[in-house]
Amino acid sequence: MRGEGNGALARAEAETSADAVCARLPGFYKLTVPERLDLLARMYRWGPDELGAVRANGSLSAESANQMIENALGIFSLPLGVGLNLSVNGRDYLVPMVIEEPSVVAAVSFAAKIVRESGGFAAEAEPGLMIGQVQVTRYGDPVRAAKAIAAHEEQILALANSFHPAMQRRGGGARQIEVRTLPAPEGPAGEPLLVVHLLVDTQEAMGANLINTMAEGIAPLIEQITKGRVYLRILSNLADRRLARASCRIPVEALADFNMPGMEIAEGISQASRFAQADPYRAATHNKGVMNGIDAVAIATGQDWRAIEAGAHAYACSGGQYRPLSKWSLDDRHLVGSIELPLALGTVGGAIKAHPGVQFAFRLLRVSSAREMAMVFASVGLAQNLAALRALGSVGIQKGHMALHARCVAVTAGARGLHVKKVADLLVKAGTVKVDKAREILATLCFEDGEEVGDLA
Ligand code: NDP
Repeated sequence: MRGEGNGALARAEAETSADAVCARLPGFYKLTVPERLDLLARMYRWGPDELGAVRANGSLSAESANQMIENALGIFSLPLGVGLNLSVNGRDYLVPMVIEEPSVVAAVSFAAKIVRESGGFAAEAEPGLMIGQVQVTRYGDPVRAAKAIAAHEEQILALANSFHPAMQRRGGGARQIEVRTLPAPEGPAGEPLLVVHLLVDTQEAMGANLINTMAEGIAPLIEQITKGRVYLRILSNLADRRLARASCRIPVEALADFNMPGMEIAEGISQASRFAQADPYRAATHNKGVMNGIDAVAIATGQDWRAIEAGAHAYACSGGQYRPLSKWSLDDRHLVGSIELPLALGTVGGAIKAHPGVQFAFRLLRVSSAREMAMVFASVGLAQNLAALRALGSVGIQKGHMALHARCVAVTAGARGLHVKKVADLLVKAGTVKVDKAREILATLCFEDGEEVGDLA
């Protein structure tokens, strides 16, 4: 079946240069799913094999699932969408996003379009220095123990690197030792905590497994040096040596919408930013919006999104109060936004090579390194945040969100096929996006169409 977007397909193709991937695809949303895939296949010059994974809904086999986790029962599916319009450091990216929540993909695409027309996102990311922690106890005098560890830095690093010689050959590996003494949580009567940080350049890997191997490997040497006893030896998810940043600058006129001048919308966004700076209750929701986008691309690309979440929220707290990861302000009739957060990402490791859906996501995203990927993730987070604050600081999010949510409610009520849109539209018109109302509307539609009402239970 052809969708209503045949004209859109032609327009999108016309805007797509023959040999380059373009993230600006007007009318893409009007295409049917097969038409969207066809368009991407032509633009990327993909053959049937490359589309196979997405056509088979990710195509992770039950056998692979059984290798990946314990007590596997089957495969659990989620929608895969594509975020449009993203331009980062002058390069176009189509962003694979796996998420069950309506409006996230639309929001990132919309905000990315505004930013794109204002010059795009500028982004940077630090190289992959990750932290492994080794907790030492019963070490005697903390100053003596700390000095002894520092004096053996070369030996400790050499031992750490001996567990992953390939990492050094790639230009990475253990780089530095830091010794931290922390006050005892029980108060002055307790032994201060002595924690050794092993800083490791993990190159293209997120690095958890290799860091844990190194941290466990150096523990006996640290015990020998300090005459103490080592307990925990594991990576820290507060990856604050692996920060990514993105920023944008938008003329206020570009924000005009909802019958409101751009300056008023920009003012609403900067007020929302002030609110989140001052109030952790607001900052939590602000950052949830940021992570809506980042988590979706993280899941699509097989990243450990729990690790990313843990790092982001710990970093948001690093000044002693939970704060927003992004900021917005007005400057000379421009809205200026920036974001900074730790992004421990990998293009290798974990399930990345094992999951065909993840491989498809990488082909779509076209990043050549974990650092480039971190720049894209940071930009996605900032775009998502812009979209949310633009609505929140003006007309509120419910109008747009409920229109999308209505489709989900219609499906929950039993609507299928063409009925989904009809029921959703009527729910929005009625101003009541509830399952009971959807059932009522569906029953009426089915009656009018002379159809059996399906299982509406
Ligand atoms: P893996 O151990 O799966 O893979 C990383 C390995 O890939 C490297 O050790 C390296 O092995 C190899 N490799 C090949 N090419 C490269 C390259 N160019 N750059 C770097 N490495 C390369 O993954 P990670 O060590 O990255 O760990 C991530 C996994 O650990 C995730 O699945 C995560 O869920 C999990 N995890 C997370 C924890 C946390 O966040 N707290 C805790 C424990 C696990 P070689 O040098 O031998 O070739």
